[in-house]
Amino acid sequence: MTDLQQDPSAPARILSQQVDQALASGLHLHRFPQPLEAAYQTYAVGVKSRQALKWAAISLVVFNLGLIMDYAARPDLLWEFLLLRAVFASLPCLFLVWLSRKVASVALRDWIAGASLIWIGLSVNILIAMRGVPPAHVAFSIGLLIIVTNIVFHLRTTVAASISVAIMLITAGFLSPHLARLSPPDVVALLFVAVAAVLTLLANYRLECTMRHLYLMTLREQIRTDSMERANQELTAMSLTDALTGIANRRMFDRQFETACSASRDNRTTLGLLVVDVDHFKRYNDTHGHLAGDACLKQVAETLALQVRRERDLTARIGGEEFAVLLRETSEEGAQKVAERIHAALAAGWPEKLAPVTVSIGLAIMRAPSPHAIMTAADKALYEAKGRGRNCTIITATAA
Ligand code: GH3
Ligand code: MG
Ligand code: MG
Repeated sequence: MTDLQQDPSAPARILSQQVDQALASGLHLHRFPQPLEAAYQTYAVGVKSRQALKWAAISLVVFNLGLIMDYAARPDLLWEFLLLRAVFASLPCLFLVWLSRKVASVALRDWIAGASLIWIGLSVNILIAMRGVPPAHVAFSIGLLIIVTNIVFHLRTTVAASISVAIMLITAGFLSPHLARLSPPDVVALLFVAVAAVLTLLANYRLECTMRHLYLMTLREQIRTDSMERANQELTAMSLTDALTGIANRRMFDRQFETACSASRDNRTTLGLLVVDVDHFKRYNDTHGHLAGDACLKQVAETLALQVRRERDLTARIGGEEFAVLLRETSEEGAQKVAERIHAALAAGWPEKLAPVTVSIGLAIMRAPSPHAIMTAADKALYEAKGRGRNCTIITATAA
């Protein structure tokens, strides 16, 4: 088992440290340490995938509008141009972009999307060869394609650079028979493509850095919000839990007691309340010491919680050595059984190191009670149980 798996909060902590370090090191980062890089890639793939088809469709519309230039140069080849642009070039391109969204590997996605741009590069060169126009026209179309490759598609910089080089090599291949006849304006136009490629690659790099920076800031906010929410939940849980025994405390009991009473009044159901008090506990402390007294209270709480089995019931420590058990929608027999189980469990099972104790229980069963009425009845019953020699339950049942 790795450290990360042993401590469930470790991944969030490590991510948080890595986010702070990455933010401190400035805007130039192009790769994060793991596991931050994996988290970023998952995020970036989602963002890029959502945009890829949209941008591919827009780029293809612009590409197909080039049909106007084709028609201006060679009106006689209109149908051939249309077929080449719409079917030969656009359909495989759309298929490749669609396919790139289906692939799990992030690197492969970019390469597949990039392949669609190489395909368009090839198509553009064929179109221009068919048009028979000067190389400056190639520069215009290929220049646009390089901009789409490096900026619009937002491929990784290494992939974008490779695709740009591949498109330029294909273009150079198509231009090679015309090299001897290149005019100075043609050379300037072709040089412009090379410069545009370098500049747009730089823009691609900066775009990636900016996206990573924004991701870090968003992640830092999210980590902070999550940790504050967790701290809040822990505080709430702590404020409702008894520190010594780990069961519900008085505050939790009061809240639930109120709602249980009003639910009982609304639905005309019967509510059971057991007030459980440890017998001669002062003497226990005096004889065995306060620490043993604490351990004894824990044991009593554990036993009570074990015997109160229904989800809707509640066991709480409401005073020093005093506990309460709230039984929603219960019958007199049911509540009595719980009390019997508590006496029996305390009589049976005690760890060797702990001296056993008994408890007295005041049990009140009422239909639609007020909190005051049922608590007073249970207290009175408890007082009576103490008077009858302790280690017993006195029941007060009121059918309203
Ligand atoms: P009775 O059978 O009549 O209930 O007698 P008792 O001695 O249990 O009742 P009393 O109210 O006189 O004493 C309760 C004792 O519980 C006194 C107090 O020191 C002890 N006590 C209360 N809270 C704690 C606690 O958190 N830890 C320990 N160890 N003792 C506690
Ligand atoms: Mg007591
Ligand atoms: Mg007491």
